[in-house]
Amino acid sequence: MIEWYRPVDASTVATATQKATACMLTYAKEDLALGPLCLAWFSASPTPLTLDEWLNPILRDLNTHEVEGERTGCVRASDPTTVWCRADLTPRQAARTVAHEVRHAWHFTQEAWKSPAPDYGDADRTIARHHEWRTSRERDSDAYADSQEAIIEAVALSVTSDAGGDGR
Ligand SMILES: [Zn+2]
Repeated sequence: MIEWYRPVDASTVATATQKATACMLTYAKEDLALGPLCLAWFSASPTPLTLDEWLNPILRDLNTHEVEGERTGCVRASDPTTVWCRADLTPRQAARTVAHEVRHAWHFTQEAWKSPAPDYGDADRTIARHHEWRTSRERDSDAYADSQEAIIEAVALSVTSDAGGDGR
């Protein structure tokens, strides 16, 4: 099923998922020596975007797929200090998503991870380079999340065992 993504309010997100996300955000931000980051949420639905919605830059970015499969998170190039997280994730999925996305926020601060300059004389080469850049960004973010597995697990456990958590 094709999914479409739209921003939702934090109040729609399960408490345990919110806690896990906030906790992982703080951890990864410090680990990668980043400045302040904020969280934003989106939900998925089968309702396609309207033309008007496509004109909204946030909606456009949320619905522009860089990788195959369902989207769990996003950091927009035009707003690299906001980490978008999918609202219906479990605490564990959310913590993993945040680790992956904070690494993308970090990419935007690194000269070595700037998008490759276009070669106007060679469109194929430009497209190939861009694809390679995107692929290595994804690989690097996944590797970072993999390296944080122990923290992700601890965060997920801590929020699901809380008396106030809803266990999701
Ligand atoms: Zn990614």
